[in-house]
Amino acid sequence: MILQKNKLKNIVIIGTGGTIAGVGEAGNTSSYVAGQIEVNNILDAVEGITKLANLSAENIINVDSCDITQEDHIKISNYINELSKDDNIDGFVITHGTDTLEETAYFLNLTVKTNKPVVITGAMRPATATSADGPLNLYQAVVLARSEKAIGKGVLVSFCDCIYGARDVHKVSCFRVNAFDQKDFGCLGYVRGDEVYFYNESIKLHTTESEFDLKNVQKLPYVAIACFFADADVEILDYLSKTSKGIVIAGAGCGECGKIWSKKIKELVKNGFPVVRSTRVASGLVASEKSVNEYGICAGTLPPHKAHILLSLCLTKTNDLEKINEIFKKY
Ligand code: GLU
Repeated sequence: MILQKNKLKNIVIIGTGGTIAGVGEAGNTSSYVAGQIEVNNILDAVEGITKLANLSAENIINVDSCDITQEDHIKISNYINELSKDDNIDGFVITHGTDTLEETAYFLNLTVKTNKPVVITGAMRPATATSADGPLNLYQAVVLARSEKAIGKGVLVSFCDCIYGARDVHKVSCFRVNAFDQKDFGCLGYVRGDEVYFYNESIKLHTTESEFDLKNVQKLPYVAIACFFADADVEILDYLSKTSKGIVIAGAGCGECGKIWSKKIKELVKNGFPVVRSTRVASGLVASEKSVNEYGICAGTLPPHKAHILLSLCLTKTNDLEKINEIFKKY
């Protein structure tokens, strides 16, 4: 671990894998295997990065982010919580695969207990591609993590010149380097050169204000996601209600489902089984004037995979649907 006492900030870089650590045919952008290079070797390719901060880097996992588990989420969060107690450490950068980057970002946003900057980045092109985007993304993530302006902003994502908040960031392209967005909510700001420019901030609770604590949590209650589509078989809900502790519905429109699914959901919530309604639509709000015991818990603007994370964490605290519905409004 670096603990240098010069005027530069001390930033810890945590490698978890992804395309930024991917290796493939020289020059090619699409045929590669993610999670191959150690984060220290990625750093070697980033021109000028060592003048920004004192850097200490290590991998705690090295995988394709589609293989990241909730156990890994807990591991990364505990790791940051432990290191953040060290006054010599000023901030954190996590390198991560882009496919589930937003899930890890949101989980950490709800469970890390520090005001110090925690910035996640990745790449859309492997390290061996022509014009790999990983080195610049990593450089900009360090610029952000060392910035006083990033303190207390919650977990941030730095990607392709833009800063995003963990709650609202979405992957919006499966191959372009400008792969992330906050849709209706734009972005929080920009990284340009060695400077950071903020213009927005989320009003939702995060990090030190969050009520979620992993101290006594080794495993999260399993929450399933069920996608509604025209003529979808309702039996999936029966099955999932037996194999999980809660279900997130990726509904149509404003979290809507057909009559048969709606009847089943009503039956489940009446019996106290947690069902959250979110939408498969790219943006918008799921809210309802109906009671929780009739309609289910509303995901607000959270997409299904983030509602899944919030519901898993809620279930470590309560099974009361009204209370969970209130929690969903705050995060
Ligand atoms: N599926 C891989 C991952 O998420 C590659 C995607 C990426 O990192 O861009 O790790």
